[in-house]
Amino acid sequence: MEIQSISLTHFRNYDRATAHFSPKCNLIFGENAQGKTNLLEAAAYLSGAKSHRTRGDKELIQFGHDTASLQASVWSRNRSFSIDITLSRQGRRKILIEGIKQKTTASLSDVLRTVLFSPEDLSLIWAGASARRRFLDQSLCQLRPRYAEALAQYNRIYEHKTRILRDWEQKPSLLSLLETFNLDMARYGAVLVSYRARYLRKLQELFGSYHSACSGGVERPNLIYETVSTVQDLHAPQDQIYQWLLEHQKSHHQAELAARCCLSGPHKDDFTVSLSGRALKSFGSQGQVRTAALALKLAEREMHFLDRGEYPVLFLDDVMSELDEKRQSFVLHQITEGQVFITCCQTMPFSDQFCGAQFQIEQGTIREAEVS
Ligand code: ATP
Ligand code: MG
Repeated sequence: MEIQSISLTHFRNYDRATAHFSPKCNLIFGENAQGKTNLLEAAAYLSGAKSHRTRGDKELIQFGHDTASLQASVWSRNRSFSIDITLSRQGRRKILIEGIKQKTTASLSDVLRTVLFSPEDLSLIWAGASARRRFLDQSLCQLRPRYAEALAQYNRIYEHKTRILRDWEQKPSLLSLLETFNLDMARYGAVLVSYRARYLRKLQELFGSYHSACSGGVERPNLIYETVSTVQDLHAPQDQIYQWLLEHQKSHHQAELAARCCLSGPHKDDFTVSLSGRALKSFGSQGQVRTAALALKLAEREMHFLDRGEYPVLFLDDVMSELDEKRQSFVLHQITEGQVFITCCQTMPFSDQFCGAQFQIEQGTIREAEVS
């Protein structure tokens, strides 16, 4: 899987820019605030029409303009695909693959998958549960279109239910709608729990081997999925999980009315990363937490490879400068295949076989530089 070229028009600080990339490593360098992360954001947007930095598309459009466009040529499944995306302040965004209009974003993940690693991910294990849920969601949304659909439905219903719980005292008639939303929430929630449980079970194996390779391997790493407490068996059939979610909702009905917010459901899911039975979040040193985060990200990349037989495009945004030499070399040794984009402030001394191309970014312009 590879992004062969990209052209941006009025995207963030890029007025108009085009670049042709190497299938190996692309080093993106330049001073602060020149557009390095913006370029990665644009490239990553091609895989699911989502930005890792913002929820709304409007922020991606250049100040003072009404539309932005991204055009790319992507090599995947032994052929080339053209992707055209137009973002608009007023209208809906438009996604074309090979000139054909797409109704959902799932078809983008079918063509291109990406894994992005930024300095914030180094504290993934220490961060709040929402960061780990985001990690699960963005990976599963690319891997399984059915998951992406269920998540979108779940979030929509969650917002409706939250509004009902917030306003029911002023408008008691709203309570009559609650039952339907509860049933739908449990139905889509059961899909999320099922997929998350299976994903984490597989991820755990890969995480374990990357972790041992990076740390020397004396401690036993483990990932433990934490979901709604009534779910007794994470791998039970979805119908059974649905019943357990309903049970939890019922027992929390009064509490939800009193708290006026949604207390029951997998929107509060989390997973714990532990070493020899001790949760890293509570007992881990900074180095242990970073090693575990690295191993998680590399395991995520491997999951995509196992699923499709092709490595996803990997983006390392500013992450190398945050790592000590030992971990830098571990990351670079693990990436022997697949396309990679690395951003940093200066050029770095990469070996010839590793570095395919270098690009200097200056105030929203991309200039290909000689590989020294
Ligand atoms: P650093 O090394 O500090 O991470 P960077 O090269 O990664 O820097 P980016 O985050 O890619 O920098 O770009 C930041 C620049 O993009 C800022 O100057 C910001 O004002 C500009 N920018 C962000 N959004 C828009 C937008 N919608 N329109 C125009 N410019 C924007
Ligand atoms: Mg940046």
